[in-house]
Amino acid sequence: MSLIIYLDGEYLPEERAVVSVFDHGLLYGDGVFEGIRAYNGRVFKLHDHLVRLYESARTIGLDIPLTLEEMQEVVLETLRRNNLRSGYIRLVVTRGKGDLGLDPLKCPRPTVFCITASIRLYPEELYENGLSLITVSTRRNIPVAVTPRVKSLNYLNNIYAKMEANLVGVPEAIMLNSEGYVAEATGDNIFIIKNGVLATPPPYIGLLEGVTRNAVMDLARQAGIPVEEKVFTLHDVYNADECFLTGTAAEVIPTVKVDGRVIADGKPGKITWELISAFRELTKVDGPLIFPEDASTCGC
Ligand code: PMP
Repeated sequence: MSLIIYLDGEYLPEERAVVSVFDHGLLYGDGVFEGIRAYNGRVFKLHDHLVRLYESARTIGLDIPLTLEEMQEVVLETLRRNNLRSGYIRLVVTRGKGDLGLDPLKCPRPTVFCITASIRLYPEELYENGLSLITVSTRRNIPVAVTPRVKSLNYLNNIYAKMEANLVGVPEAIMLNSEGYVAEATGDNIFIIKNGVLATPPPYIGLLEGVTRNAVMDLARQAGIPVEEKVFTLHDVYNADECFLTGTAAEVIPTVKVDGRVIADGKPGKITWELISAFRELTKVDGPLIFPEDASTCGC
């Protein structure tokens, strides 16, 4: 069945949802995007994703031609038109069509599109047994150049890292920043737990401030777990009591081995499991309803 795609003000069958070869999103990776998820009729942390999209756009000097509220409606309406209650949403704003030069002044109108799809999940056994990761030689982009805090269409840095992970057959990889501190994974944020304290690196060292990351930090605080944003090294990861990754697609997923070093006893840790179940509960209640008529049945 053909998907319905939102593209520049219209809801089109996917065959007709086409973007120009002169679009600078394609020619130069000039644009921003979001990966969002819907669970059982609600769009998880939709507002946080939209805020990040608009902040990314501001940083690259791109004026999104819709208000945040209008963009929220685009996401919800695209899901409705595809009759989707759960799935993955890709929201993209590019600089738009220009000439072959890189000058954004030649691009009068941004291109906006929204694709919804069903999501490919990590198998449940990876949540139960945990991931084995490696650290790759590709360093995360330095924040003083193209800051990783912008979720831009330029993902080559992460793709290089993913290729290294593919070479050794692991599903994710740890990237260090240019100074050798642990930054994040290719599409996920990283957390460690030591002596009951949860830690994750601060965004200023060069990483994407994940929506899932922030949600998990909130959940930890609510559970009385101390949370720190701090700079750490691989030594801290190898010697952690627990380690896990967070991301929209991966959710919260335990990590049990890094670069051949077994983390603690090699099993997903207790606090990690506590956070996984708190996160799963949160996905049931957070975010706007896609179908307003669901309000009468959900008791909210
Ligand atoms: N880091 C990178 C590089 C990512 O691409 C993602 C996925 N968007 C994340 C972290 C996790 O972010 P989020 O929790 O918002 O999906």
